[in-house]
Amino acid sequence: MIPAQASLVLIKPDAMQRGLMGAVLTKLEEAKLLLIGAKIVRVGRPLAEAHYQPLREKPFFREIVDYLCGTLHGGASVLALVYHGPQAIAKIRALAGATNPDLADPASIRGTYGRVTTRGLMENVMHASSDEAEARREIALWFRPEELLEPVLEERREQAAR
Ligand code: ADP
Repeated sequence: MIPAQASLVLIKPDAMQRGLMGAVLTKLEEAKLLLIGAKIVRVGRPLAEAHYQPLREKPFFREIVDYLCGTLHGGASVLALVYHGPQAIAKIRALAGATNPDLADPASIRGTYGRVTTRGLMENVMHASSDEAEARREIALWFRPEELLEPVLEERREQAAR
């Protein structure tokens, strides 16, 4: 059996400002994963900087922190989600598409809705955890344990309801 994984998804401020939240959620439902956490977050600088810590040396670090804080998109917030299930990380990354929207599969979320700004920032609609260690780190950053549903119990409830 493939072990279940959890993955953090962020619907980023560009998508929130442009009214794409529903379209992104609809596409993510194709993965048939269990949603175990969801909240709307007005992102402050400390959280954005902590989230992007692994990229702190990159020349675009400051800009992606501004991007996540919503300062480039009219102060828009972020929808933070945790999905759980077999191969959750790979399934969500596949639906998201490549980091650069210009190179992403046109059928993917980033390929459909993303863009590269004239200043070179990749406004790519959503974040998705890249591997299990990153997912654990990111989920702990964005959610308190009591804000997440217990996946085993939820799976049992869903089976019982079928
Ligand atoms: P991903 O979000 O696909 O995991 P990264 O973690 O490498 O990609 O980058 C974080 C975010 O930084 C990306 O989603 C994108 O918004 C932005 N970004 C990544 N690489 C570049 C780049 N070369 N130029 C501008 N922005 C970038």
